[in-house]
Amino acid sequence: MTPVKIKLEAGNDTLAIEWSDGHHSVYGYRELRDRCPCSTCTGSEGTQATEQTTGKLPMFQTALRPLRAELVGRYALQIFWSDGHSTGIYSFDYLRSICPCPECSRAAG
Ligand SMILES: [Zn+2]
Ligand SMILES: [Zn+2]
Repeated sequence: MTPVKIKLEAGNDTLAIEWSDGHHSVYGYRELRDRCPCSTCTGSEGTQATEQTTGKLPMFQTALRPLRAELVGRYALQIFWSDGHSTGIYSFDYLRSICPCPECSRAAG
């Protein structure tokens, strides 16, 4: 599956992708960051904590947003986040598999 259009929508804090099959996916920034597929975030290199948990104080959270997104070859998107994290390579297959729309959520069970 390949995207025809990838659009960062800063006003909505979302990344919108239009796929070659006409499907439309909209991902929230926070959701995308949480689903970062890199080894640090998925913990496949151990469960070492790299961030201190200071409790949930949403008003002190820096606004999380992608500074930029770059295509990696023809198969993936690399997102450079405002928190300095940039090792996550979101393959298009992966992005499609985590599409949050009701249709895809249902298909995924
Ligand atoms: Zn990551
Ligand atoms: Zn979908």
